[in-house]
Amino acid sequence: MTRLLFWIALIILVVWAVRSKVRAMMAPPAQGMGQGMGPDPRQGGGDARYRRVPDETESMACCAECGLYFPASESVRVDGRDYCSPAHARQPSLRKPG
Ligand SMILES: [Zn+2]
Repeated sequence: MTRLLFWIALIILVVWAVRSKVRAMMAPPAQGMGQGMGPDPRQGGGDARYRRVPDETESMACCAECGLYFPASESVRVDGRDYCSPAHARQPSLRKPG
């Protein structure tokens, strides 16, 4: 019976050691080289390279029906008025009375 316990303890020890070793291998090498991360600002001469900024300088339009603001490129223009959707462009007369 004591031999069985001994073997169990040995197996647990081995498993623990292997697990700790695997963890050390899986973990990223965060020690040592902590500097040098990030983009190098000394690229090129005078062209300033910022982060990728999406072109969201599009002008907004206001729906004549519901008052919703939306990109002007998606507007539905009817009779010189901008609408957010064809449905609103089609039924401008269904506005609430008052
Ligand atoms: Zn609308």
